[in-house]
Amino acid sequence: MNGKDIFHKDFQIKPWWWEAYEPQAIDLADVPRTTDVAIVGAGYAGISAALELAKNTINAVVFDAEQPGFGGSTRNGGIVSGGGSVGKRYTSTSPSEIEHVNNLRRDAADSFSLVERLIEEENIDCGWHRTGSFIGAWCEKHLKTMGEKVALLNEHAYADAYIVPREQQRDYIGSDYYRGGMAVDRGGHLHPALYFKGLLDACERRDVTVCAKAPVTRLTQTDTGWRIETARGVTDAKDIVIATNGYTGDVTPQFKRRVVPIGSYLIATEELPDDLARSISPTNRAFADSRRVLTYYRLSPDGKRLLFGGRAKFGQTDPLETAPILYRFMTDRFPQLKGSRITHAWTGNVAFTMDELPHMGTLDGMHYALGCNGSGVAMMTYLGTQTARKIAGVANEPCAFDGPALPGHALYNGNPWFIPMVGRYFRVRDWIDRRLN
Ligand SMILES: Cc1cc2nc3c(=O)[nH]c(=O)nc-3n(C[C@H](O)[C@H](O)[C@H](O)COP(=O)(O)OP(=O)(O)OC[C@H]3O[C@@H](n4cnc5c(N)ncnc54)[C@H](O)[C@@H]3O)c2cc1C
Repeated sequence: MNGKDIFHKDFQIKPWWWEAYEPQAIDLADVPRTTDVAIVGAGYAGISAALELAKNTINAVVFDAEQPGFGGSTRNGGIVSGGGSVGKRYTSTSPSEIEHVNNLRRDAADSFSLVERLIEEENIDCGWHRTGSFIGAWCEKHLKTMGEKVALLNEHAYADAYIVPREQQRDYIGSDYYRGGMAVDRGGHLHPALYFKGLLDACERRDVTVCAKAPVTRLTQTDTGWRIETARGVTDAKDIVIATNGYTGDVTPQFKRRVVPIGSYLIATEELPDDLARSISPTNRAFADSRRVLTYYRLSPDGKRLLFGGRAKFGQTDPLETAPILYRFMTDRFPQLKGSRITHAWTGNVAFTMDELPHMGTLDGMHYALGCNGSGVAMMTYLGTQTARKIAGVANEPCAFDGPALPGHALYNGNPWFIPMVGRYFRVRDWIDRRLN
């Protein structure tokens, strides 16, 4: 198949999820003069914060520069994990650090429970499949590291994880590409845009004001709280929450300097014959791998397509350019898909932090929930909710992600010029690992 033949005749550059729900700003809510809490960013974090505030009878207004859900929250892979990748950078043997990481894992596991609870309580019809995940080992060394982590994940993140040797991996994934892997039964996948819509609907039922097309342009501290200037009006609020993740801009330079936006890319195949789809994912798990240049994928909620994502390029690039790269990654893993065409390709921003951990907290008087590090369906829902509970004064105990301040770096001013170089370095490290280990 040459490069052009991979594209279906109806190919579009648009998230496939938007066929079911496209972020929209039909009725533009007026910007109210006052509110208790102003939230900047209407993704999972901002909308969950507003929902939890409403449940605690606190008035909140959410502002988005575009349509609610315009950011990562309706573009992602929909893979829901509960702490598998949290704290992977920590190797310290200091008891206090070990305790801290275990607390992070426990709270990450809570984020998974929260998603399940919200889906049930708010009756969100979003194709939730609690079918677990499989993380493919890129090399023998990674499989060994996974083996060392399983007990910790089970004890602290209640992951129901176990190692799958290479000889058995075909029971989990229709591919011989990996050197075995780790199955995590407490995981699954959903339709990210319908999940977002469900949260938005829950806010609407509680009369939360969501102001679309209202980019926040200036924030000023006042005697009573904050003045929020937007392109469509001005609001005074007692508290403010920054929930802009990979879209954090110049209006909050202190946060822009602390999160690194990175593009992530996805493609969707055309509808596949039933037996071909089942051959890829016999038990409908979500997939990811242990490469530094990560890939992640899953079947669509109806089981008919493969949605395949990854960091095909590290900078922000046209999805038309990254689609053939993802297609190659996909057919390397599933040669049986050679000849299948793709109907959609798209991109969105994730936000990395210097310590590779998500954070909530307060900086310069502003609450924030930021830094999904690529995994935020559950985590950003959770951090938004926890931020709201903190503001409402009803948090039972401090969240483990609300502690260590969101770190910056002396050499980073908010311009991620170095990202393509980091991407090249990671590719070389991956290549070496695969060959030597
Ligand atoms: C392609 C892709 C695949 C992913 N796959 C997965 C996955 O499979 N599983 C998983 O767990 N996570 C995944 N993620 C991560 C996940 O999507 C994000 O962590 C999550 O959506 C972040 O939610 P959020 O509410 O923090 O931010 P977002 O949803 O990104 O929302 C931020 C909002 O802030 C708004 N904004 C910015 N500046 C302003 C301003 N000045 N005024 C008003 N509004 C402003 C933006 O318009 C945007 O709507 C993926 C992300 C991407 C992009």
